[in-house]
Amino acid sequence: MGNVKVMWRSTKNLTRQAFKNNKMLIPLEILLGMMGEAKSILEMLLPAIVLSLIIDPTGTDKALLFVGVVCLAIVALEIGLEIAQRLLQNHSLRVLNYIIFGLNKKGMRIDLKDAERKKVYEQMDKANDGLWYSSDVHYMVFAVIVPKLLTLALTLYIFSRTHWIVALGVFLATLADILLSIRFSKKQYEFDGLKSVYNHQKDYVEETMFDQRAARDMVMNDAKDFFSKKRSDLVDQIIDVTRRKEKLEFTQEIISNTIDFIRTIGIYVIAILRYIAGKLAISDFLLFTRAAMEMTYALAQISHAVEYLFEASHYYTDYEQFMMIPETDRSMGNERLVNKPTVLEFQNVSFRYPNREDYALKNVSFKISTGETIAIVGDNGAGKSTLVNLMMRLYKTKQGNILIDGKSIYDYKYDDYVRYFAPVFQDYNLYYFTVGENVAFDNEIGKSRINDLIVRVGLEKKIASLTRGLDTPYSKTFEEDGAVFSGGEEQRLVIARALAKPSSGALVMDEPTAALDPLAEHDINTLTLDAASGLFKIFISHRLSTTKFADRIFVLDNGHLIESGNHEELINNEGLYSRMFNMQSSYYKK
Ligand code: ADP
Repeated sequence: MGNVKVMWRSTKNLTRQAFKNNKMLIPLEILLGMMGEAKSILEMLLPAIVLSLIIDPTGTDKALLFVGVVCLAIVALEIGLEIAQRLLQNHSLRVLNYIIFGLNKKGMRIDLKDAERKKVYEQMDKANDGLWYSSDVHYMVFAVIVPKLLTLALTLYIFSRTHWIVALGVFLATLADILLSIRFSKKQYEFDGLKSVYNHQKDYVEETMFDQRAARDMVMNDAKDFFSKKRSDLVDQIIDVTRRKEKLEFTQEIISNTIDFIRTIGIYVIAILRYIAGKLAISDFLLFTRAAMEMTYALAQISHAVEYLFEASHYYTDYEQFMMIPETDRSMGNERLVNKPTVLEFQNVSFRYPNREDYALKNVSFKISTGETIAIVGDNGAGKSTLVNLMMRLYKTKQGNILIDGKSIYDYKYDDYVRYFAPVFQDYNLYYFTVGENVAFDNEIGKSRINDLIVRVGLEKKIASLTRGLDTPYSKTFEEDGAVFSGGEEQRLVIARALAKPSSGALVMDEPTAALDPLAEHDINTLTLDAASGLFKIFISHRLSTTKFADRIFVLDNGHLIESGNHEELINNEGLYSRMFNMQSSYYKK
């Protein structure tokens, strides 16, 4: 019974969503279903009525007239059906688009701590698939089940005039069919789930295999064969699941055809016996057998539709679960952050990741002002990224206070707050759009501002050398004349993007230059500092070449802020910073 409840809920919710978004869709479905039904009822009645008319020699004219009118009506219905079908397709695609848009929006709004979990992405994929599989529930209800129930009522009425046992037999046989499909639909869903996981993994392996960025790594590690094998193993698994699913479908088909066979034979045997016994007129014989066929068909359609509703409800559950994942709390905070703030302060801040026992940050306190350049240094895992993640509200902590201009950062409107930061991460992404779109997405800031930024990050020569300047596609993936950038050039492009954010007041560089050689890193840092003058500038680095630029350096060790000061001060301190610096500089001298 639990399944019935889920089925009811998914059907109700999806129908409600469809109706809310598009007022035409459901009336169109009802119209389509009714026209289709009217057509098949006319086709069912036509031969029997004509036969009963022509049995009487004076009825020929009437019969001809009747055939003419009914045939015209059928043609008109067919045209109507064709038009309604086209309109329906259009509206139904729009509704699906609307629901998927909501799903994607949700995906973007999920808390980072959840979004990082691979499982959530798999869930999103499943939810997306689920919507495709389940989007037709209202069609099944309004264009199939409701009209077919009318046919069912009519055929039952016809049988009640001849022999009720036929109606009962057909009904029971079809009920068996429906129960069978419910049982099978659950298994089908399990197979589809398994297939979706394997497909996901296969897509990942394929993407990595052909990713330009992984190409060098792949060749140098001789990993092509490894990846090919992984891919072919996954394909084998997908084939295996598909085969098992097809076997199941085949079994279901055999059982259902057997039921159908018994049903049809039974109907004919009874009709023939009653005709021989003189209890059935020839025209009623015709009506009876056609009605039996119609009833079988109607019940099969209803059973198919109900099966779809159950199957859809399994998929809908994936969608529902995904939509229930908590979002970043955007409602929190009403304070506007429109004027550029001047002071950012950490007071005794500690933080632990949800799935970890140990603290990533412990009792961290500092105060920084606009215009200042801060470098955060420390070994891997010291807590540098955590510190900036907290600062940007990508995670939330309850231990300690983070204040901007004296107010908790959580008091500010989320959208204002996030707009204020311009981060550049190490694992940046460039997209297969134009170079200009990679800097400013929809280009709202205007070409001249983008050009200005391109100059500021030192890419003007590079962009001038491209066939279509800023309109050149990034990478050759889709177009022959796409631009190819070096690692350093890509970094500059990403920095230009960060600076292009119109309202940015704080530039956060989370080791974006770690993959570059120290000289290139030096160049980019000098350039960035110039380009971002007047903003808060926070550089994270475990290379100490960055730190000489900084007004102040924060040294993190194991989540603790153990030293702070400028380069000279920290060298004179002879603490961790000076040891790290001496070690790195001796390495570079070598
Ligand atoms: P750094 O940037 O200095 O290399 P991080 O701030 O990334 O250091 O990490 C600090 C500590 O927190 C490390 O022990 C790291 O393993 C842990 N950590 C970082 N991100 C996560 C996460 N998403 N979930 C759990 N632990 C994390």
